Amino acid sequence: MSIQPSPAWRPQGFLAALGPDFATAVAAQPLPQPHWVAQSPQLAADLGLADWLRTDDALALLSGQRAPAGAGPSLASVYSGHQFGVWAGQLGDGRALLLGEIDTPLGPMEVQLKGAGSTPYSRRGDGRAVLRSSIREFLCSEAMHALGVPTTRALALVGSPLPVQRETLETAAVVTRVAPSFLRFGHFEHFAHTAADIHALKTLADASIARYFPALQGSAQPYAALLQEVALRTARLLAQWQALGFCHGVMNTDNMSLLGLSIDYGPFGFLDAFDPGHICNHSDHQGRYAWARQPNVAFWNLHALAQGLMPLIEDSDAALAALEPYKAAYAQAMLDAWRAKLGLRRLPEAAPAADGDQALVDTLLQRMAAGGTDFSIFFRRLGQFSTAPGADNSAVRDLFIDREAFDAWAQRYSARLQAESSVDAERRLRMDRVNPKFVLRNHLAETAIGQARQRDFSEVQRLHRLLQRPFDEQAEDPANEAYAGFPPAWARQLEISCSS
Ligand code: AMP
Ligand code: MG
Repeated sequence: MSIQPSPAWRPQGFLAALGPDFATAVAAQPLPQPHWVAQSPQLAADLGLADWLRTDDALALLSGQRAPAGAGPSLASVYSGHQFGVWAGQLGDGRALLLGEIDTPLGPMEVQLKGAGSTPYSRRGDGRAVLRSSIREFLCSEAMHALGVPTTRALALVGSPLPVQRETLETAAVVTRVAPSFLRFGHFEHFAHTAADIHALKTLADASIARYFPALQGSAQPYAALLQEVALRTARLLAQWQALGFCHGVMNTDNMSLLGLSIDYGPFGFLDAFDPGHICNHSDHQGRYAWARQPNVAFWNLHALAQGLMPLIEDSDAALAALEPYKAAYAQAMLDAWRAKLGLRRLPEAAPAADGDQALVDTLLQRMAAGGTDFSIFFRRLGQFSTAPGADNSAVRDLFIDREAFDAWAQRYSARLQAESSVDAERRLRMDRVNPKFVLRNHLAETAIGQARQRDFSEVQRLHRLLQRPFDEQAEDPANEAYAGFPPAWARQLEISCSS
């Protein structure tokens, strides 16, 4: 008999070590008749769990049927937060359970089951997650990672015939999420406002700094330094989201990661036709989380985090000073990202050609918005743009309704490329590494979900594989081309809401 390798569970993880104020021990409510829907072999390999993930032990653990030996009880943590700009008071892990921590080649990781039953923080919810939204979270977590965006990961997706009532009757699923930490802005808001327990707030902040931001430990003002570091990470994250046309959909402060990770994939979306006001969440009636508003909302959320840390920072000028670098960091990261998407190498600030880059981007985005140009397809095709005199650039040009307006822009773009002696073939290689060919558009997820409901998980798995190499042509299978194409007309009718 061979001994199967299993994860090395730590007897006490970060939260458990802090004491009882931060989390409650809750046993998972097992998913009945669990079955695998999908796994992430890449993540399993990175974590050193590839063999284990093939075992019955893995299915039992990741469906909540059995607790991992040596990990201690599973935990639901308490947090609060601002939802849609309004203080919502206590929230907490209403359907997420921390199984424990494991030591991996990537360092210690928290392993969490999402949808493993109710907790003291479930409020009116049932503690479950439906297969539909779990497929979306599983696919998008891993797709974002492959796109180079900091994110919580998804190791596996388990389904079950257990009925779950939403607008219609659906079935339950559990996603296994993995991250160094699932700490949210809302954890700090909770101890500052709801619990008003400054001692607990300090315990949490000190432990977070020691574990996740050790370089800040010697700082004269460690809590302001923490705030500034989170602001900078968030700025870079938001620039990455914007550059990919990614819309989160529910940027409430309880869905903002202290580590600057993308977290809690719900009604997210990737832009199809470019519309800066695009609202991906059908429940977001005011458009608070529209694509173009995301960077400002993130800054607003950072102010909420600052309020949560105020009892420790004490000096509001110091808190504001810690937030201030967000603006410049975001602006710089965003301009860098646009330049990369256009295949421009950065020129010294003094060079006149570089001064016009922001204007070049702004004009482009205006024209894309005017014509509803497909965001991902445009940037991918722009890699093939030729600067040769009289070249046929109709593959890009035809994406615009006002072709003359595009021509005028293309002339400026060409001149800018020539100013840095750009070589078309080399530029294309650079651009193809930042402008993905494959993104998780809603209609692709929807097709996979439809088949999964018939217990055919091959499309979920196929999409997962495809999205592992979003920058590659993947021409080895001609059928892949359809996944990089325009969304079908029915995609416009898709309404993705908070219900999950
Ligand atoms: P979300 O907007 O999905 O991030 O969730 C906001 C809050 O609602 C969090 O505290 C979640 O844990 C909780 N929640 C969402 N759905 C459920 C559910 N089905 N059962 C219990 N709690 C839930
Ligand atoms: Mg959430």
